[in-house]
Amino acid sequence: MVVKVNENYLLLKSNYLFAEVANRLEKYENEHPDKDVIAMGIGDVTKPLPKAVIKAFKDAVDEMGQADTFRGYGPEHGYEFLREAIVKGDFEPLGVDLDIDEIFVSDGAKCDTGNIQELFANSNTIAVTDPVYTVYVDTNVMAGRTGPMKDDGMYEGLVYLPCTAENDFEPELPSEPVDIIYLCYPNNPTGSTLTRDQLAKFVDYARENEALILFDAAYERFITEDNIPHSIYEIDGAKEVAIEFRSFSKTAGFTGARCAYCVVPKALKVKDSEGNEHSLNALWDRRQTTKFNGVSYPVQRAAEAIYTEEGQKEIQENIDYYLKNAKLIRESLTDLGLTVSGGINSPYIWVKTPNNMPSWEFFDLLLNEANIVGTPGSGFGPSGEGYFRLTAFNTYENTKEAMERISKLSF
Ligand SMILES: *Cc1c(COP(=O)(O)O)cnc(C)c1O
Repeated sequence: MVVKVNENYLLLKSNYLFAEVANRLEKYENEHPDKDVIAMGIGDVTKPLPKAVIKAFKDAVDEMGQADTFRGYGPEHGYEFLREAIVKGDFEPLGVDLDIDEIFVSDGAKCDTGNIQELFANSNTIAVTDPVYTVYVDTNVMAGRTGPMKDDGMYEGLVYLPCTAENDFEPELPSEPVDIIYLCYPNNPTGSTLTRDQLAKFVDYARENEALILFDAAYERFITEDNIPHSIYEIDGAKEVAIEFRSFSKTAGFTGARCAYCVVPKALKVKDSEGNEHSLNALWDRRQTTKFNGVSYPVQRAAEAIYTEEGQKEIQENIDYYLKNAKLIRESLTDLGLTVSGGINSPYIWVKTPNNMPSWEFFDLLLNEANIVGTPGSGFGPSGEGYFRLTAFNTYENTKEAMERISKLSF
């Protein structure tokens, strides 16, 4: 074999986190087959798709089976009916005016946040929050924008913005020049949010430093508080400095159906080495039309149905169910004297481990003593050490039982 590997891939750390969680769980269950373990590490929705969505989905499948309504390849960046529903349903109510050509429908925000970096030169300096949704980091490693991971768990060449209880999970502006900043709010894994003023600081920074913000709003639908922006475009001037990623996955239960979109405003410009400006909207369009052939027609009709009155009501009921679990977790753990964040505008609760216990030690304690599985914070980045993520996606009954079990532990 003379084929040479892309050595950037060799810099990646194996996906140790969820594999190790699964290993330890399997070992425990083999040794204790009688124990009923409650999964609180679930990063996936559990409620079925809303009825309005299923009806639209099925009707569209039927259309595909009739010669006169059959559809083949659709537009790469989504059917107009969906892009119009998105502009009207998600942005007009916020006072954000977007053109449908600024919306690119896709099969996932994971793919979009992972693929977008292709548009940028390798010489750009990238900043990520720490802890972080690892897709942002790993895709930049694959692209060759970093060196190897150092002993401190950080990749050489990346700028990390720590988010810990000390700064109330609000990242500070980069202290060294950066070109691209990934932000995810409401945050996975910490469940924290940025207020309008806090987000405006980043937009102002980007405007002053000619930087770009990649804003992942996958959990936007979980926002319950008034001073939290649903879209970065609610901040003045953001259209010149930000791309926003949205997904129907957590919003409407599309993790298995696959539909998302990103907003690339026409006002966004990048420069070549000679200083000439290029439209990011045009470049992303070129990328998508070359490498992507669109989301299936029935899935786009299913997504469109979210924006009907019935669809909105049904998805809100599901979100409210998860939020009720989140509130229960947050309040129960706070009552036990633990330091927690998240769970108000997010399905994630980020717990500071008692007595600065390492994340994995707390994982073992919860598993062995309370038969609860969560996710060690250290798996999301070095600043996640000493934290633990619980999720609100289990049933209310199981969540309640889990909280009762935890209340019997002594830390
Ligand atoms: C779940 C999630 C997404 C959504 O990914 P899809 O590919 O649309 O399912 C995006 N970003 C974050 C941070 C997530 O947790």
